[in-house]
Amino acid sequence: MSRPDTIFHCKRSEKMKDERITTDILCIGGGIAGLMAAIRAAELGARVVVAEKGNVLYSGCGRMGNDHFETYIPEMHGPDKDAWIEELLQTAKGEILISKDLLRAQFMKAYDIVKLWDEWGIPMTYQGRWEFAGHSFPNHPMTHIKYEGRFQKKVLAKQALDRGATILNRVMVFDLLRDGDAVVGAVGSHTREDKLIVFDAKAVLLGTGKCSRLYPSITPGWLFNDPHGGTQTGDGRAMAYRAGAELQNLEMPQRHIGPKYFTRFGQATWIGVVKDWYGKPAGTFVDKPDRRYGDMICEVNKLAPEQYTQTGKGPLYMDCTEITEDDHDYMMHWMENEGYPAMTDHMKEEGIDFRKHPIEFATYPLRGGGLIVANENAETSLRGLYAAGDEAFGDISAAATFGYVGGENAARYADAAKQTVRGDLSALIEEKKQMIDTMLGRESGPDWEETNIALQQIMVDYAGHVRNESLLKQGLQHLRRIKDKAQNGLVAHNPHETARSLEVLNMLDIGELTFEMALDRKETRGLHNRPDYPFTDPTLNRSHIIRRVNEENILDWRSY
Ligand SMILES: Cc1cc2nc3c(=O)[nH]c(=O)nc-3n(C[C@H](O)[C@H](O)[C@H](O)COP(=O)(O)OP(=O)(O)OC[C@H]3O[C@@H](n4cnc5c(N)ncnc54)[C@H](O)[C@@H]3O)c2cc1C
Repeated sequence: MSRPDTIFHCKRSEKMKDERITTDILCIGGGIAGLMAAIRAAELGARVVVAEKGNVLYSGCGRMGNDHFETYIPEMHGPDKDAWIEELLQTAKGEILISKDLLRAQFMKAYDIVKLWDEWGIPMTYQGRWEFAGHSFPNHPMTHIKYEGRFQKKVLAKQALDRGATILNRVMVFDLLRDGDAVVGAVGSHTREDKLIVFDAKAVLLGTGKCSRLYPSITPGWLFNDPHGGTQTGDGRAMAYRAGAELQNLEMPQRHIGPKYFTRFGQATWIGVVKDWYGKPAGTFVDKPDRRYGDMICEVNKLAPEQYTQTGKGPLYMDCTEITEDDHDYMMHWMENEGYPAMTDHMKEEGIDFRKHPIEFATYPLRGGGLIVANENAETSLRGLYAAGDEAFGDISAAATFGYVGGENAARYADAAKQTVRGDLSALIEEKKQMIDTMLGRESGPDWEETNIALQQIMVDYAGHVRNESLLKQGLQHLRRIKDKAQNGLVAHNPHETARSLEVLNMLDIGELTFEMALDRKETRGLHNRPDYPFTDPTLNRSHIIRRVNEENILDWRSY
């Protein structure tokens, strides 16, 4: 990575400019959820602004494409809706602790979204039919259709623009504006210009995606070798927390499985069998490549490659060598739509052919967990604040569905809201400006990159694969020391580095909350492994909530 200051170091002759934008709905993040919210809210007549950190055409997890969309189709699944939900809970949604009400709300709506996307030009059928494949066990209800998502962001951006939404690329929003108990806007920093942007909005929707870069990548020197692209840094949940909204389960990290060192998603796109060096399958689901089911061991046990290596049986491979020509073409077609071309092109260059060469698979490193608490209307615990997508309840179908639902509800709320900013927020805005000005004005100090690396080290060493009270307490002390240094000393040389620094400040907040919540979860569950509390406590089958009240963090447990 070239140093950004060699690309566009901006000499500061004067203090930061500012711009004020008034709108009904502010969608923060122009990913799948943010664009769907913008489309629906604009359709209902609201003035909508989408503020996107990157460029909506190429940003977020959906940037390079996706190929699986969860949907319940009544004429195919029949009346047993619970079977669909149970299958999802055993498979794609298994590692996410989520309420069944949300899943129910998703399936009530997802099929309508599928039809809309198809109408707008995102091909949702294959050879003229609904094609269900992947993410389900043999002989179980199929939950995901295949779709051609490669150009989905272009289509969604066009739909938003056609309905009159305004898209502002290169704006990183970093704090919400709150007036009384309502959210009434946000503050952003331009990533190319020395400019603060203040949004006055009647309602705000957070569609800022997951939290990557909290833990080290599989190639620790390359911070951005992350399936999410590395720019979803939990900004939404950090802003929501600082504004007083409830977050849940941050201490529950996740892991994924895929080609070693490439950190790609798309486990269900592969048509092969996961095998060891000697050709013995790791799972029991398939023994030959099967285009309908893939190999569900990837879904059932994402730790399998790591466990094989640790127990002296590794490595594990995705073996597609027995694939038919027809199935190979089918798989390559979907890989293109799943955002795999960078990897498949590289393999071609290296002479690697899936038909001849098994591909080494790895368990990817930990990634930050947790969500903003949002209900089936995409409402958060704060008035005027909505959240959808990976910040609240992820995957493409949920992002699209709850983005749309959130846009609709935000538009209705905005319609009823009398005005945007009520109180005088000028002191608050001045404080934000001052914070960035100071960062840009410093001659020396820690930069975003070294702070990010230090944070990652603390996270993996102290809130990583094994946790206990003393380790967590020590890690929290280290983290707070680094956070203090960052808040008082981070140096940025240009607007790009300002944005990176603001991301790191957000991740430091998320890291701190992760420690606090991990200390409070006195049990072992999923990847939260506490040998000092080795058993899973059934009384904690609930949502673990945190929120800030008067500078204090309040922790709570609540039924899903
Ligand atoms: C390679 C890959 C393949 C996948 N395949 C599938 C699949 O087939 N099926 C499936 O269900 N799921 C799949 N997923 C997951 C799916 O893509 C995500 O769940 C989905 O895109 C989430 O949508 P979102 O809108 O919540 O977040 P994103 O699409 O990630 O968008 C978040 C947006 O917010 C912007 N942003 C972040 N912070 C800020 C800020 N502070 N200010 C302004 N903007 C900000 C980001 O730049 C980004 O554009 C895949 C993911 C990847 C990476």
